[in-house]
Formats: sequence, C-alpha cells, structure tokens
Amino acid sequence: MKPPMILFVEDEPKVAASVKQGLEENGFEVDLAPDGAVGSYLASSKKYDLILLDVNLPHVSGYEVCRSIRAKDPSVPVIMLTAMQAIENKISGFDAGADDYIVKPFDFRELLARVKVFLKRSTGGGEQLEDVILRVADLELNLAEKSVTRQGMPITLTAKEFALLEFLMHRKGRVVSRADISEHVWDVNFDTGTNVVDVYINFLRKKIDKNFEPKLIHTKPGLGYYLKEL
Ligand code: CA
Repeated sequence: MKPPMILFVEDEPKVAASVKQGLEENGFEVDLAPDGAVGSYLASSKKYDLILLDVNLPHVSGYEVCRSIRAKDPSVPVIMLTAMQAIENKISGFDAGADDYIVKPFDFRELLARVKVFLKRSTGGGEQLEDVILRVADLELNLAEKSVTRQGMPITLTAKEFALLEFLMHRKGRVVSRADISEHVWDVNFDTGTNVVDVYINFLRKKIDKNFEPKLIHTKPGLGYYLKEL
C-alpha cells in the first residue's frame, strides 16, 4: 500500500524538519514547501492526501495559499498551523477553506492525532467501504464516492463540511447539540464561546439550502441543529 502523501508548507526550517521526521517515522511521506508559492505549486502539480499549512508565511499568507489550493482541489483536507489563537484568525482560516486548526506551539502527538483522523476519513481507514447513500428529501450523500447532490445537482463540499453533513444525515430528524457535533466531527470539544460549529452550519446552509426549497437544516434554539424535510 502506498504511504499517505502529506504536503507541509512551513517557513521555519526547524519546525518543518522535525514534523517531517516525526510523520515519516509514522509511515507518511512528506514534501516540504518553504513558502506559499512553492506550496501552491506543489499542491496543484501533485496529488496529496493532506496539506499542513502554516499561516505566517513570507510573501503570501497561509490564508491566500489555502484559497488557491481550495480553488483547485475542494476536497483535500487542509489543517492550518498558527501562533495566533484569536477566534477571528480561526474563522479566517475556515473562511479560506481550512478544515482544521492547530495552535503553535503544538505537541507533535496532537498534530499526528489530527492528521490520522483526516486520513482515516478520506481513505475509509481500512473499514469496509459500503456503497451507502444517505438521503433526506432530495439531498443525497454517497459515502463511497464522497459526493453530495441536491435535486440531482452535484454540490462540492470541503472535507469538514462533508463530515458535518454526514453526521447530521445519519441522525436525520434528531436534534444534535454543538458539543456532540464538535466532538464527533472535529474530535475536540471546542471551548465554550467559539462558534466554529455555527460557522460550518452556515457554510453548509449556503451550499445545500440557499438555492433550494424546502430548507433542510434547522436550528433548535439553545439546543442545536437538525436535518429534516418539514
Ligand atoms: Ca511561519
């Protein structure tokens, strides 16, 4: 089996080298890019299973790099790394299309755990790949093809948006709390006060509800969200 390929865009040589070594010891193959230009170029010329992207890069910020990667590949998981902890920066990263966020300085084991979560999802993790289609009204999610359609029209989702929609569809008609969602979709319990789940629900609404009727994503005030054809 081919080892999963990871692209790491990082301008600090020490961080780049130690993470590369750690990932390689864990069975991954890693390409390093020292700046955003090289990162964008590699991301568009080679197929990666996951991209780790520093925010503070020379010349072009990680957000810009993320947007350019997203424009070409909507589905590759992108994890951003940053020393900035502010919520606004997290939201900027998610707006740019990142799937997850790691705050520097980080413990390598934390990074490895996040990477493994994404690769398990995007490769099926060796579990049996069933050709399962989840449906709510005219919304269809194909687990095997990792594709989504509404009224037969393909809808492009990022890896995180897909995971969130899959979670809601598995529980259709049932209210799920923000804590449930963050724990299952992000594998972390977001500190109270962050609105990452709400931000992602809005992303999903724009893609699967905005141009369609009836609306399928509903808010239960104070409790959470549910997916249902009313
Ligand atoms: Ca940096």
